[in-house]
Amino acid sequence: MVNEATLTTPRTTLSTTPSAPPIIVWLRDDLRLSDHPALHAAAKAAAKTGAPVICLYVLDDSAGRAPGAAARWWLAQSLRALGADIATRDGSLILRKGPAARVIAEVARESGARTVHWNGIAQAPHQAIERQLESALAKNGVDSQCFPGDLLVPPAVIRNKEGRGLRVFTPFWRRVLALGDPPKPLPAPKDLRPAPTVASDTLETWKLEPGKPDWAGGLRETWTPGEASARARLRDFLKHTAQGYVGDRDRPDREGTSRLSPHLRFGELSPRQVWHAARFAAAENPAIGPGVDKFLSELGWREFCRHLLHDHPNLATENLQANFDGFPWKPDAKALSAWQRGRTGYPIVDAGLRELWHTGVMHNRVRMVVASFLVKHLLIDWRDGESWFWDTLVDADAGSNPANWQWVAGCGADAAPYFRVFNPVLQGERFDPDGAYVRRWVPELKDVPPELIHQPWQATPIELASAGVTLGKSYPHPIVDHAKGRERALTAYAKIRKG
Ligand code: FAD
Repeated sequence: MVNEATLTTPRTTLSTTPSAPPIIVWLRDDLRLSDHPALHAAAKAAAKTGAPVICLYVLDDSAGRAPGAAARWWLAQSLRALGADIATRDGSLILRKGPAARVIAEVARESGARTVHWNGIAQAPHQAIERQLESALAKNGVDSQCFPGDLLVPPAVIRNKEGRGLRVFTPFWRRVLALGDPPKPLPAPKDLRPAPTVASDTLETWKLEPGKPDWAGGLRETWTPGEASARARLRDFLKHTAQGYVGDRDRPDREGTSRLSPHLRFGELSPRQVWHAARFAAAENPAIGPGVDKFLSELGWREFCRHLLHDHPNLATENLQANFDGFPWKPDAKALSAWQRGRTGYPIVDAGLRELWHTGVMHNRVRMVVASFLVKHLLIDWRDGESWFWDTLVDADAGSNPANWQWVAGCGADAAPYFRVFNPVLQGERFDPDGAYVRRWVPELKDVPPELIHQPWQATPIELASAGVTLGKSYPHPIVDHAKGRERALTAYAKIRKG
């Protein structure tokens, strides 16, 4: 952990006079030092001219969707880790708050910087800020340089004949693969000369972390944000988990996936670093080849969702398929609250939502099951579920979250058909056969035998009593009957198909 003083000293004073004006590097969702094109170019220029590099992070809640509570917690830890990494290279991380274009232009004025570098973000609200910044800087004669952002392939490269983005994943991914390997990752700069006197906020004043009540204990237990930890996790995945990935990735009771999503979300690792590390590992050990191919195609879904967001900036609020606009959702605050709290009476659904609350993530298979349960069994608008995930996921991503919700709801691109209604009991029995996942997150069911753990209501009173369960008291009755919920969902869907 960084010494707080490194981040919180309001002023960083330069001991020697710089020989060239400073270069500002605006850090965004790319909280790392390696494979950072904007920083790499700044450090290279600085090495020639002796210019100091100012690493600047701006908290700008008007830039796109303001992060939810769990993501703000992650952001604080990630900035601390980044501040520590920058300090080991003789630099410091400057923190400022406010509209990014205005704040960066101010820092340029205060520091005498003549150049500002950043990595682009291919999302409409971020691009709008980039344009504002360019014009604010140009007015003061300051250069701006935007470098390639956090995608394997920019959206402009993958278009159909009409110039639109692709809406189906398989041809999209085929096109990405046909382009060959992305450029090799760039090394981290060796040293960053100290910046001149520039005022910095303190992380504490931003209040990104919870005060009282402190609900972040489970997040602290589960995660170590930051670039070093992200790289270690990737190494560990390729060494120990990739070989079994194809079979294990759907099993929430196993450690079968990389758990890299929050690190990728905050750019502690870039997709091309992941790509090259995975390809290299597969070349060294062909046994992991199929696992690596599948894993990279999942990274492809992240890319696909980002491209969709680029083309549909209102992805979190508007159905991609307009026929869903008239869908007869049934708002139900009580049912929504039972779902959020993991009290639906369906063990796999409840386990997922409690895992989410405690750790800030949920296994992908279970995300699909809980999302399907909300929109189909409960007929609650997918946007309500999406908002809950947005607030509680540490990996909450402006592309992946709404795109996956729309996919599950049936209104998205390349969506699962609406009539495919997951049966939560069968999903539990198939992907958590011994009930280990449910036992972990729903401890009141820990003594229920495996053949009943996904449907405790089928147990006899004696079986329930010997497992210490009283349905309706220690664990809820199902809030909806599966068969009735399914019928109701199909009837609702038939209405929009006709309409
Ligand atoms: P791995 O299986 O190891 O996959 C590697 C990487 O590929 C992930 O880290 C992630 O970056 C990407 N990835 C994997 N699956 C998907 C997918 N379906 N869509 C997009 N990218 C994917 N993922 C997020 O990163 N942020 C979200 O906000 C998010 N919301 C979701 C909401 C719903 C309703 C659903 C069904 C899925 C959502 N996902 C989201 C996708 C997926 O569940 C997570 O990326 C995955 O569980 C992360 O675990 P992992 O890093 O171990 O994945």
